[in-house]
This record gives sequence, C-alpha cells and structure tokens, in this order.
Amino acid sequence: MAYTVTIEEENKEIASLYKEMLRDTYQTLSKENKILIRKAFDLAVTAHKGQRRKSGEPYIYHPIAVASIVANEIGLGANSIAAALLHDVVEDTDYTFADLEELFGETIAKIVNGLTKISRMSKDQDVSIQAENYRKMLLTLHDDVRVILIKIADRLHNMQTLDSMRPEKQIKIASETIFIYAPLAHRLGLYNIKTELEDLSLKYTEPEVYKDISNSISESKEEQKEYIIGFTNIIKESLDQEGFEYSIKGRSKSIHSIRKKMLNQGVSFDEVYDKFAIRINYKSDKKNEKFDAWKIYSIVTDHFNPNPKRLRDWITQPKSTGYESLHITVMGPKGKWVEVQIRSCRMDEIAEKGYAAHFKYKHGNESESGLEIWLNKLRESLENPDTNAVEFVEQFKLNLYAKEIYIFTPNGDIKSLPKGATALDFAFAIHTEVGMHCRAAKVNGKLVQLSKALKSGDQVEIITATTQKPKQAWLDIVKTARAKSKIKNALKEDQKKIANEGKEVLSRKLRHLKIKFNENTINELVNFFKLKTSFDLFYRMGNGSIDNIQLKKYASQKSNALVNFFKNKIKRSTAASVDTQSNEVTAKYDMLVFGKSEEKLKYSFTKCCSPIPGDQVFGFIAINDGIKVHKHNCPNAVSLQSNYAYRIIAAKWIDSSQQGYKAKLNITGIDNIGLVNDITRIISKNLHVNIHELNISGNEGFFQGKITVHINNNKQLNNLIQQIKRIDGIEKVERVHN
Ligand code: MN
Repeated sequence: MAYTVTIEEENKEIASLYKEMLRDTYQTLSKENKILIRKAFDLAVTAHKGQRRKSGEPYIYHPIAVASIVANEIGLGANSIAAALLHDVVEDTDYTFADLEELFGETIAKIVNGLTKISRMSKDQDVSIQAENYRKMLLTLHDDVRVILIKIADRLHNMQTLDSMRPEKQIKIASETIFIYAPLAHRLGLYNIKTELEDLSLKYTEPEVYKDISNSISESKEEQKEYIIGFTNIIKESLDQEGFEYSIKGRSKSIHSIRKKMLNQGVSFDEVYDKFAIRINYKSDKKNEKFDAWKIYSIVTDHFNPNPKRLRDWITQPKSTGYESLHITVMGPKGKWVEVQIRSCRMDEIAEKGYAAHFKYKHGNESESGLEIWLNKLRESLENPDTNAVEFVEQFKLNLYAKEIYIFTPNGDIKSLPKGATALDFAFAIHTEVGMHCRAAKVNGKLVQLSKALKSGDQVEIITATTQKPKQAWLDIVKTARAKSKIKNALKEDQKKIANEGKEVLSRKLRHLKIKFNENTINELVNFFKLKTSFDLFYRMGNGSIDNIQLKKYASQKSNALVNFFKNKIKRSTAASVDTQSNEVTAKYDMLVFGKSEEKLKYSFTKCCSPIPGDQVFGFIAINDGIKVHKHNCPNAVSLQSNYAYRIIAAKWIDSSQQGYKAKLNITGIDNIGLVNDITRIISKNLHVNIHELNISGNEGFFQGKITVHINNNKQLNNLIQQIKRIDGIEKVERVHN
C-alpha cells in the first residue's frame, strides 16, 4: 500500500484529529482537564515520534482514534481520554510506569499499566494460555472497569484498520474479537460497539458472506426507508397532538445478526430482513419519562395491533447493564410485523453508550447498580483457582450472552438470573449459605424440585435445613457459574476432610498391624484395593468402607507373599501371583448413608458389635462424637432404641460408585390419556429421583418414552422400574446402557 504525505500535511492532520476527538467533550471539560489531556497528547506524540503503523501512517493516529472512541462513543471523562492517548506508551516506547505516575498521577498510570499487561499477555498462541489470560484480563474488571472500556476501544480501532495486516493475522484477531471482546462489549452495554465488532469480525472470517449480506442491505434500503415513512405518517398526527418532541428512525439490523438468524432459523436474507424495526426517541424530563413511554405505547397500539406476547418492559425493570426501553411488536402497514422501541433521549444515550452513560446519570450511589453487583459476582467466580480456564471462559461467555429473568423473593425483592437458572441457582443467588443448606423450593407457593427451571416473575421461597449439604447431583442441576463453583468447593472440602481423617486412621491401624506407614505400603494398599490414588484409599478409610478385617487380609497376604517369595526363590519356580480378587472392597456396599435422604454424615463404628459393610445397621447420634453405628442385633440395640428413640437415625450401606448417576429407561406401551401423568407422578413420588429428560412419542396407539432419571443406587432404580411396570398400559420398561 502506498503512503505518501508530507510531514507538514501529517502534522496538520494530527492537529485536526486531536480537535475532532474533543468535539463532544470540549465544552464540558474543566480547565485542568483540558490541560491534562493536552499534556497526555503532547507526551504521546513525543513518545511515538518516528513510529509508524503497518499502513504507513504515523503511530499517533491510533492513540488519538482510541481516545476519540473513548470520549465520543463511550462517553468517558478526562482521565480515561488521557489514559487512552497514553495506552501504548509503556508498551511501545521508552517511558515507564514510574514516569507516567510522576507526570500524570496514580490513577492514569494504573489504567495504562493495566492496558499494558493485557497487550503483553494476548501475544501467546496456545488456547489454554489465552483462556487463562482472558481470565486475568477479566479480573481487572473490578480494579478499574475503565481499563476494559479503553481496551475495547483499542480493539475497535484495530479492527477498523485491520486491512493492512497479514491475512492470517486478520483471522486470528477477528476470531479473538468475536470470542471475547464482542461479548464483553455486550455485557457492558456498549451495543453499538458490540455490533461493529461483530460485523468487522465477520468481514474477515467470512468475507464472502459479509459481502453478500451488505450488498443485499444496500439494495433494500430504499424500500425500508419508504416503509418507515409510511409507518411514521400514521402515528405522527396523534404524537403531535400530545405535544411530543420526538424522532422516529428505522433501526437497521447488523450484518452479523442477520447472518446468525439465517443460520439458526435456516431462512433466506429476505425472510430475515422483512421484519422491520423502528425506534421512537422522545424528549422528556425525569418526572414524566415513564408515563410518556406508556402514552406513546398507547398511541402506537391505537393504530396498530400489538402482539401481546412480544411486550418487553425494560423501563419498569431495567437490565443489569442499565438498559431501559419499552419494546412492542405490532402488526404494521402491509401486514408486516414491526418491532417498535420506545425510549427517552436519556434512555437512548444509555442504550448506545452503555455503562459510562449509566454511571453519568446514576450520580453517586453507583455501588448498588446492577452492573456493580454483577462485577462482584464475576470476580468471585474468577477468583476461584479450581476452575479450569477454558471451561471458565466458556461459562463466562454463556453468562455474558444469557438472557436475564427476574425472580421475586418472598419479601418481594427482585433477583436477576440468567435464563434457564433453576430453583437451586436462586438459592445460591440469595446467599451461599442458603444454597448450601437448600432442602426444597416453593415456586409461587407450590413445592417443586430443586431442578425446576424458573420463569421471569416467579416468586420463589427456599426452605433450608441445617443438616442439608451439597451433593454431587447438584452439579447437574445448577446453571450459574457461581453456584457450580460453590458446590464443587464444598464437595471437595468434604472429601478432603474425610480423606485426612482416613489417613490418620490408616496410620494408626497399620501401627497395630506392625506395618510401616510409608509410601511403599500406601502404593501396595492402593493396588490391593484396586483403587487409583492414595486419596481414594484415605477417603475410603475415612468413610469406613475399608475396615479392620480387610486391612488384616492385606496384612496376612503381605506376609504370605513374603513367605511365598522365599519359597519360590528356593523352588526356582515362577512366583505365585497374588490373588486379590476376593479381597476387593465389597463393590456393592461400600458407603454408609443416613436418614431418609441418604446423606453422608460423619460416623464411627462401635466396639460393642463391630459392624462390617453389608450388615444391617442403624446410627445413634452421640452427644459429642457424631454418629455411632451399631448392628441391628447388637446387644445394646434394644436399650438404645427404647431409651433414646429420638437419637436413632436410619442407616444403610450403599454402593458409592453408583452414588448419584443417570439411568436411561426405555418405556413402551399402549398410548392412552394420562399415561404420561402416571409415569411422572410415579417418578416424582420416589424421593430423590429426578427426571433429567423426558421424551415421549405416540404413534397410532403405540406409546414410546425415553426417560433419563437421576438416582442414587440400583435398588432405587429397580424399585422405580417395578412401579412403572405396574401402570396400566405399560408393556415394557428396560434400562438402556449406552
Ligand atoms: Mn493500541
């Protein structure tokens, strides 16, 4: 690409770019701020002197363009504009963080520092490293959200000038943009920038598609213009009569969103583009703003029939990004559906500029805004070091794009959750402790399963029990990253505790057996019990599924093996293989659970009857010592049960490897009314069986159902199968193994 300009022309251009950058803000900036920005500009010009962009232009064009986006499109203040001008100074020139701190103070230096860090880390290639980097980047969200906002502006300008890059670089940068920057912009409410980022990405990742769609759009522009004029003319008189000051614009769909709709719905360009969108912006004051929106709504629906299902009221309950608007879809002229967005000029500015504008209007009490709360939650999940970074970014993106639903607490407070969130998610949204001890949930007064997906407007009451603890199966129920990480942590903590106790117990028991507690022994034990890791061994020791008798078997075999070893050495025959078959931990019963809900609780065995896995047992709640487990036929059983009935808790052995798993059932039968009801009733009647998936098809009197249930053990499953078989009309129920 040829680039030929004289230095004078360049300097003139730089000066005019600088002026243009401040066009919107100059009037409102204080004298000090004007000086500050000028100082930043002068330093940036000096620092980048002689540097050129790939296009040949002076490098300083770039920081000015970024500062211009920051000032005019995002609407940030003087510190951010200065930081944007300086954003590449530390990375690409000899100036240091300390220099900037001395010249511009801590705030600006820190923002530039954050930006420098981000640009350094995005140079890695590996996907998992990148994901880890994004995580770090998102961590800075909370430090100073301006870092991310300026970074997005930086990315936008780089995308706008991507033409001069090498093709493979273009694709890499475009993919990265669609992967993280567009979602971020969306979440921060920068809808215009998000749209531009998406369209620019498409331009480089799928150039043909991009060209096709943008051509089609310009071809149909005239037609759309005419339609909007027609629509406007119909409501104009009524709006004028009410004395509204307003503007009506067609809202053009972005290339990216048209592409997405074409793909998702398998339709042509015309079918997508045929739906018009119109925006009515009106002037109003704070007092009448809401009322005016509904007045305009009423005028529009006087002339056009609304689709009642498509009313979106973001005015009464704004989105957590601060977005406010009233959306309706009406049947417009020529029998076409038209989406009409009604919003005041203030709301419009928030909608276009996002977070920053929201901040501007919020004045002060910004710590309580929805975005702040969201950022806090995000930070919490970011700080959890256990999440895998790639998984995290995926999860994060889900949360970014998720539609929001609004749920009421019993007191009438509102919580916002991503669409698809369940009652259990809601419990964790209220408070971690509420989530941890969540026992049941009532939605609109009716008891539901914890896996129940909530709908906007539901009022949810969570019932807790102090004995309740997070379960493995909960991980399948929750949708929010927050709840997931809390549950994972709790489960891990629990296991760690049990394993630690198990390690103690093992070392003590081995001492009694005169076996050394060392790495070698542990490895032998892991092999002997056919486990994978020492953690498994300690865990099973801790929960009692490996007991004295089994340990003794190991001990005697160890000495036998030793004897055999010498015997065989003498005989010079091959060593007898150690038969471990019979010593495996009884696969069927290796874990004790308590109470009706089959909870894992801390327990110990009593000396009076020494129960072993598989024995019929019960638990006795000791005052200080957790639960003591006795055999049903223990000599003390009768007196305990009669004197302390209230301290007895049911206990039974289960198969831990089968703890909480999914089973698929194939059900066939004769189709009759009520069959599905009967089946779901039977399943929900079975405590702790959850339906995961229900897929039923009927065909000419023949009924076929596929049900996936979440169950705790085989006995439960067999029970369930027997009960379903008893339903009238059912022919066959069988478990399907994958
Ligand atoms: Mn830059």
